[in-house]
Amino acid sequence: MYRSHSCGALRESHIDTLVTLSGWVQKTRDKGFVVWVDIRDRYGITQLVFDEDRTPSELLEKARNLGREFVVQAKGKVIERASKNNNIPTGNIEVLVQELTVLNESKTPPFTIEDETDGGEDLRMKFRYLDLRRNPIKNNLVFRSKVSMEVRKYLSEQGFIEVETPYLIKSTPEGARDFVVPSRMNEGQFYALPQSPQTFKQLLMVGGLDKYFQIVKCFRDEDLRADRQPEFTQIDCEMAFVEQEDILNVFEGLTTYLLKEIKGIEVDAFPRITFDEAMKKYGNDKPDIRFGMEFGELNAVAQHKDFNVFNSAELVVGIAVPGGAGYTRKEIDKLIDWVRRPQIGAKGMVYVKCNEDGTFKSSVDKFYDREDLANWAKETQARAGDLICVLSGDVNKTRTQLSALRMELAERMGLRKPNEFAPLWVIDFPLLELDEETGHYHAMHHPFTSPKPGQLELLDTDPGAVRANAYDLVLNGNEIGGGSIRIHDKETQAVMFKHLGFTPEEAKAQFGFLMDAFQYGAPPHGGIAFGLDRLVAILGGQETIRDFIAFPKNNSGRDVMIDAPSPIDKVQLEELNLKLDIKS
Ligand code: ASP
Repeated sequence: MYRSHSCGALRESHIDTLVTLSGWVQKTRDKGFVVWVDIRDRYGITQLVFDEDRTPSELLEKARNLGREFVVQAKGKVIERASKNNNIPTGNIEVLVQELTVLNESKTPPFTIEDETDGGEDLRMKFRYLDLRRNPIKNNLVFRSKVSMEVRKYLSEQGFIEVETPYLIKSTPEGARDFVVPSRMNEGQFYALPQSPQTFKQLLMVGGLDKYFQIVKCFRDEDLRADRQPEFTQIDCEMAFVEQEDILNVFEGLTTYLLKEIKGIEVDAFPRITFDEAMKKYGNDKPDIRFGMEFGELNAVAQHKDFNVFNSAELVVGIAVPGGAGYTRKEIDKLIDWVRRPQIGAKGMVYVKCNEDGTFKSSVDKFYDREDLANWAKETQARAGDLICVLSGDVNKTRTQLSALRMELAERMGLRKPNEFAPLWVIDFPLLELDEETGHYHAMHHPFTSPKPGQLELLDTDPGAVRANAYDLVLNGNEIGGGSIRIHDKETQAVMFKHLGFTPEEAKAQFGFLMDAFQYGAPPHGGIAFGLDRLVAILGGQETIRDFIAFPKNNSGRDVMIDAPSPIDKVQLEELNLKLDIKS
């Protein structure tokens, strides 16, 4: 028996009990006549004690020679500690050791295994197995497991069954590139790893399984943005015989349940706003609604004077920054520099200080009088003491820029409180999105999303105006889930493929199996998928999803611990009939 108790279990009630513990040496303190050794496992830390009076000298010597991270087993008696440590649950006791076995030695770890470590990110990733021994990372994984369990519990109680779908498949477009796997047995042919189990879960509905879920890995070969992982986990769900309302209800239920069980937080019914409204009010389809600062459109009250910058703009739009009238000239100049950085790309920013005495001071006083500025204040809901920041230009770009400014200011002012949770549904997404570079439309969600009833005809005349039965669940400025009601008949699916630029042959080659299945009694169906990594990070009150993944990839998509991706040897290449001709 390696242990009778864990390193986090012993309390005063165990005093005088003989126990066996196993764990890693956190640290050793040698006072000459007494040696203390802290040993750690997943559950906590217990202090072992060896001293001249009560410990045979050999054993004392052995304790002295323990190095950090040695794996040891200690047998001994629980005794009361002379000087208690209130910071840890086992702090009232220690174990007077009678027998000590070194189960394995350890090299000195390259960084300290402490909550605050001296190891930088790269080093921690290279030795991730050591990083996992640290509380912050370990606790995150325990937390993640709890969230997954609660998800399984809730969904099973709702009658969902968990079904595994294959990883070696054919492309399922979710808007990214596929990772591909060469097939040895089928020369020149490739599998694709799923960007999501989308087509399979729809086929499960055709198969009559009615309510499906899966906590599943998805793979997307995207240019990596900060905190995106090429492989990530989804809570993937699908239901048959449902309308949008049914899905929203079930998954609002799941989210509410998680907030209650995990965070102890009760939330009201989730607000719902349309995509158009979200863009208009927040410049963003995943608005953080924990704070106000809603957009006020100012075209009507700003384009009647001689200020050409505004007159020539498609959109003039502002936000009120609470308490911002107190900003110094220098602070405002810094804000202007901030919006003009290439990442944001605004040409400039007009501002209005709404002074406490009811007067205004703006950067465009030459053009606008008090009445004009009072109207701007009204539209942006600015109050005395606020600063109105106004951007102008092309509608979409300006909204995106102002949204970035809104989020940045809220962050700086501490309005994005990690322990406040404000979920909402964004609904009525456009079905198609115009790719400005190619001039082609592509599916905003994916090609299987159904248009709103009666809108199919619009596809020919005004494709950009067609709205979809698609919805996103947004939490604190993050999209945590998204889904749609699907097309379930072959004809509509064919029309959709046509509009997405597939020839009938291409559609058949890629998605023939789905269209065929639709001919055998496909029920109306719809679903949603949640990004588990992000959901867990947000519930854990943190930003970085990497800290909630046991073995994450770095920002260049590499696993630096196992050193992947890596070249494969010639024999393997030959077996796969692959010829590499890489010029360096
Ligand atoms: N497959 C979709 C996604 O991964 C989710 C869904 O439509 O259910 O975003």
